[in-house]
Amino acid sequence: MARYIGPSCRLCRREAMKLFLKGTRCTTEKCSFARRQYIPGQHGQKQTRQKLSNYAQQLREKQKVKRIYGILERQFRNYFEKAAKTKGVTGETLLQYLERRIDNVVFHLHLATSRSEARQIVRHNHVYVNNHKVNVPSFLVKKDDAIEVKAKETFRKKLQNNLEVSKERGMPAWLEFDANNFKAKVLRLPERADISLPIKEQLIVELYSK
Ligand code: SF4
Repeated sequence: MARYIGPSCRLCRREAMKLFLKGTRCTTEKCSFARRQYIPGQHGQKQTRQKLSNYAQQLREKQKVKRIYGILERQFRNYFEKAAKTKGVTGETLLQYLERRIDNVVFHLHLATSRSEARQIVRHNHVYVNNHKVNVPSFLVKKDDAIEVKAKETFRKKLQNNLEVSKERGMPAWLEFDANNFKAKVLRLPERADISLPIKEQLIVELYSK
C-alpha cells in the first residue's frame, strides 16, 4: 500500500499541532513546528489561522488522523466503510481499526520511536504474530494474539535503545509486553479510553456521511 514520502514536518505545521512523526527529533528544539508555527508554503506566514467552516474542521480532522497513522485516503476510507458496517459507534470502531494495525502496535511497544519506523520494522520481516511472519503494516491484531519481534545482535541494540528513549510514552492497557524477550500479547481490543490522541472522530463520521 502506498504511503506519504514527502516532508513530515510540513504535515504538523499544516495541522497546527505536533503529530510526532519523526521520533526523537520531535522532542528536541530541532522540531520545525516549535520554530515555525505557521502554515507551510510561500504565503503561509501571511495567512492567519481563520475560524474554520464546519466542512473545513471535518476535513482537517480527517487529514490529521490519516497523517498520525501514516495512511493515505483510499485505505482510510476503507477503514471507515468497514467501521460503518460494524456494530457499535462508527467513529470509535474506526479508531479501533487504526490502533489494531501491527505497525501501530510495534510503535506502542516502544520498539520504534515513530510509526514510520515501526512500519519499517514490520516491512523488514522482524515481526511475528502467533509464530507467523507478518510483513504487512496494515495487518490487524486481535485478542490473544502473541507478537514477537525477532532481531539479531546489532538490530537488537537499536531496539533496546528505542525502548529506552520511548518508555516515557507509556504502554496502552490492552497490550502486555515482555521487554527482555521482545514478546507481547494482545490482552483485549483497544477501547476509546485507551486512545489518548486529541481526535474528534465524530467530525470524520460527519464528513464521510455527507
Ligand atoms: Fe512534527 Fe516531529 Fe517535525 Fe516537530 S519534528 S514538526 S513534531 S514531525
